[in-house]
Amino acid sequence: MKGKKINTKIINGNQTALKIEEALKKEVAALTRKPQMAVILVGDNPASLIYVTHKKKTAERIGIEAQIYHLSPVMTQDALIAFIEELNQNPAVHGIIVQLPLPKHINESCILNAINPQKDIDGLHPQNLGQLFIDQPTFIPCTPLACLTLLKSVCKNLTGKTAIVVGRSRLVGKPMAQLLLNEQCTVIQAHSKTKNLKKLCSIADIIVSATGHAGLIRKSYVKKGAVLIDVGIIRLADKKITGDMAFNEMIGHAKAITPVPGGVGPMTVMMLMKNVVSAYKNTEKNI
Ligand code: NDP
Repeated sequence: MKGKKINTKIINGNQTALKIEEALKKEVAALTRKPQMAVILVGDNPASLIYVTHKKKTAERIGIEAQIYHLSPVMTQDALIAFIEELNQNPAVHGIIVQLPLPKHINESCILNAINPQKDIDGLHPQNLGQLFIDQPTFIPCTPLACLTLLKSVCKNLTGKTAIVVGRSRLVGKPMAQLLLNEQCTVIQAHSKTKNLKKLCSIADIIVSATGHAGLIRKSYVKKGAVLIDVGIIRLADKKITGDMAFNEMIGHAKAITPVPGGVGPMTVMMLMKNVVSAYKNTEKNI
């Protein structure tokens, strides 16, 4: 069998996201009120502006009301916390997100920790991360949830699989590793100080990479028939978008791979929408 090419499946994130969108539209149409999310954007980071607009448009297609609060780049941390507190207290608001990154003078952790965990649709509050840690999650961070959903679309049984997560951020790597552990995988967590990444990757059935280093994961790192989830988004000098994995090399070698763009990205936004609807339902339950 050695040398025989595999018919590699390209995991289509756009298509899967569209299916979930259709299901969410129906779910939202049956609700008594419109779910409402507040999106806080501090400053004028051009990429953040694009992401926020995309989230609003997606929400509107589904029937979710998305209010964007575009705040001054010189806003103080205390003022931002006070603003979040107002939204926490507002019963009309079901979910709150703060678009990252924040300006340098604002401590990201302090801001994420200020969001009411019941409205934390990004799932990044310590309470929600802790709940994920004990496998009793309320909100799961959107990108890891997107990765898991795509992974399950090609890998029905994750039990006992060896998975490596490259990256250990609060946003992606750490919650991703925990999710896979909760799915009964044997998990290796790699990062920039990891020695012999190639060898560790080569024993994995599943590789999830979230580093932002273009082409870090080469074919020589990958066991034949492994499933590859590429989270990285890198804009090259010629303006093209690419991921962490050497995509072309993996065709004929991997069992399945997510493309960049068109893989994890569109699914991340859809997972956010799912979390807004969950937040709405949780609130209604508690009234
Ligand atoms: P961070 O910069 O916060 O984290 C990157 C992680 O990668 C760190 O843990 C770092 O290790 C690790 N790392 C960096 N270089 C290497 C290396 N050479 N070998 C092994 N590990 C390495 O980024 P994020 O987690 O926020 O995002 C990661 C990527 O995913 C980015 O490209 C981002 O744009 C993309 N992204 C995509 C999303 C999507 O929807 N598709 C959503 C969110 C992010 P250390 O901790 O030691 O520094």
